[in-house]
Amino acid sequence: MPELSVSEVLELDRRHVWHPYGPMPGRVDPLVVDSASGVRLRLADGSGELVDGMSSWWSAIHGYNHPVLNEAAREQLGRMSHVMFGGLTHEPAVRLAKLLVDISPDGLEHVFLADSGSVSVEVAVKMCLQYWRSLGRPAKQRLLTWRGGYHGDTWQPMSVCDPEGGMHELWSGVLPRQVFVDPPPAEYEESYAERLRSAIERHADELAAVIVEPVVQGAGGMRFHSPAYLRVLREACDAHGVLLVFDEIATGFGRTGTLFAAEHAAVTPDVMCVGKALTGGYMTMAAALCTSRVADGISRGEVPVLAHGPTFMGNPLAAAVACASVELLLGQDWRAEVERIGTGLREGLAPAAGLPGVKDVRVLGAIGVVQLDHALDEAAMRAATEAAVREGVWLRPFRDLVYTMPPYVTGDADVARIARAVCAAAREG
Ligand code: PLP
Repeated sequence: MPELSVSEVLELDRRHVWHPYGPMPGRVDPLVVDSASGVRLRLADGSGELVDGMSSWWSAIHGYNHPVLNEAAREQLGRMSHVMFGGLTHEPAVRLAKLLVDISPDGLEHVFLADSGSVSVEVAVKMCLQYWRSLGRPAKQRLLTWRGGYHGDTWQPMSVCDPEGGMHELWSGVLPRQVFVDPPPAEYEESYAERLRSAIERHADELAAVIVEPVVQGAGGMRFHSPAYLRVLREACDAHGVLLVFDEIATGFGRTGTLFAAEHAAVTPDVMCVGKALTGGYMTMAAALCTSRVADGISRGEVPVLAHGPTFMGNPLAAAVACASVELLLGQDWRAEVERIGTGLREGLAPAAGLPGVKDVRVLGAIGVVQLDHALDEAAMRAATEAAVREGVWLRPFRDLVYTMPPYVTGDADVARIARAVCAAAREG
């Protein structure tokens, strides 16, 4: 039973606890969640439940309190919740690595089990930089990416987030200096593809890798683009000796309608990051997968090891739940569920297209986006969130976006409800 009243939680929260991108002390009272089950969050103030249109930042694809994931966690907890990964190994980690190798694009063979998405991107970048150092090409240490991206909040990932107007703009002068190209248009345009090719060719001598979010640029703007650009990247990287990294942290595990977004283009990157839905949103775990070419390159170097090893690397509890989550996903017709949600969102969000201030409505896989023609300020963001809460739905509108990425187990009536909430929030914004 909870020991604190809701107002005590809020008081302590305001005084002591940082929230994502929040001030200290806190200015806005968050909602206090008591528990969660299925697709619903139960609020601690007794006011009821909210359908989670966010899947807890795109991770809880099976919903909450799932019996299969609970059992996997319980079983592993009774065995070993954690053990250091230096000099030791265990079944959950190797099973998970094998599972990821089996389901990811052909050629990705080696798995680094990191403890968050950002760290997996750090590791991916380190792999690429070290690869070229090992091959005696130490000048190849920069990254090329699209503007408008988001890859996490640690140093290297921040350096490849949108440098202007993005979440890490504050640091753009001191972060590693990367090469930016405009975000890809939604449809394929040969002239843009040509610009991509020539940027890669022009900077090839200093580029370690190109890193992008395939098919969907997520937190940087929820932009969708033609998978054909991924093939352009693959060909240009191969032609000019540059590695290719796909950040599938948001898109992985079915969100865009294929298991990984890379499949839309039938392209294998040299390194791929996954996270978020990897554990069904239960635990913090991510992974960077790489090809044998990358791993072999690193092991030919003067320092033949990948110098990275966080305390919670390969955490057995997270790995056991991740195995259960991936197997749960693969054991069902998840494509049909994602398609069903997409159809419901397309239908339910259609009225938003006629609202004043709405610039675009788009749906891909189980992602529904309403883009406004203006950015929401803090007050408008709060008003939009409250409008969704009045509809019984949890959303997190930001900048010019009201969007949803619901759990795949969201029923049709709840999908319709989420869509109504997105429209209500867009109206308010
Ligand atoms: N990469 C992408 C594409 C993401 O969407 C995110 C998080 O939103 C990250 C990396 C960072 O992951 P994490 O928040 O687990 O560090």
